[in-house]
Amino acid sequence: MVLNRANLVVMADEHGTIVVIEDDPHISDLVDMYLRKDGFRVLQAQDGEKGLEIIEREHPRLVVLDIGLPGELDGLEVCKTLRKTSSIPIVMLTARDDEVDRILGLELGADDYLSKPFSPRELVARIKAILRRSETQSTQTAQEIHIGSLTIDVLRHEVFIDGELVELATREFDLLEYLASHKGMVRSRQQLLDGVWGVGWYGDERTVDVHIRQLRKKLGDNLPLSTIWGVGYRLG
Ligand code: CA
Repeated sequence: MVLNRANLVVMADEHGTIVVIEDDPHISDLVDMYLRKDGFRVLQAQDGEKGLEIIEREHPRLVVLDIGLPGELDGLEVCKTLRKTSSIPIVMLTARDDEVDRILGLELGADDYLSKPFSPRELVARIKAILRRSETQSTQTAQEIHIGSLTIDVLRHEVFIDGELVELATREFDLLEYLASHKGMVRSRQQLLDGVWGVGWYGDERTVDVHIRQLRKKLGDNLPLSTIWGVGYRLG
C-alpha cells in the first residue's frame, strides 16, 4: 500500500484521538497506520497501566483494547476500570476465539469486539460506526451548546447571540449544531453533507459553502468558524 505523506499531514488529527492498547507491535502498528490514514490521531500503549494513564491524560474519543496484555491488568480489567468512571467507546480485540471472552467483553461494557486475525479495514469501519452512534447520543443529551457569545438551544432549535434570538433556516441551524458538536475538529464538506443533509444525499459540496456563507452573514464575528483550505471547516 502506498501512503501519501502530504495527505497524512493534512488528515492527521482530523477525527480526534484513539488509544490503542495492544502488546503485539505488529498489530498495533498496523491498526495505527490504518487509523492515521483515515484522519485519526493514534496513541499506542503496550500494557494496561500505561493505557489507562494515556486515556486519563488525553481524553481520547475511543479505545481499542486487546484482552491479552502483559502486566497486572489484562484487557478485561482495563475495561472494567474504565467503565467505573467513563462511558468512552471501547472496541476489544481477542486472540482466543471462544464465546466466553466475547460475552465477557460485552458484559463488561465494551461497545464491540473483533477476533484475531481481523481485517484492519473492518476495525476502522466498526470504529466509525461506534463514533457515529455515540455522537448522535451525545447531541441528543446536550441541551445547550455555548461557543463564545453563541448559545445553541438544541431542543428548541434556537440560536442566541448574547441572549438575543437569531433567525436561522432549518438547514443553517442543523449545520451550525453539527459543527458545534464537533467543536475544534475540522469537518470536510463531504462529512458535513453526510452529517447534516444525510448519507445518500447526492448534493453538490458547494451547497455546504452556500449555507456557511449564510451563517457567517447572520452571525458575523460571533461565529468563530475557520475555513481550512482544501479540507473544510472548523468551529471553535
Ligand atoms: Ca496481546
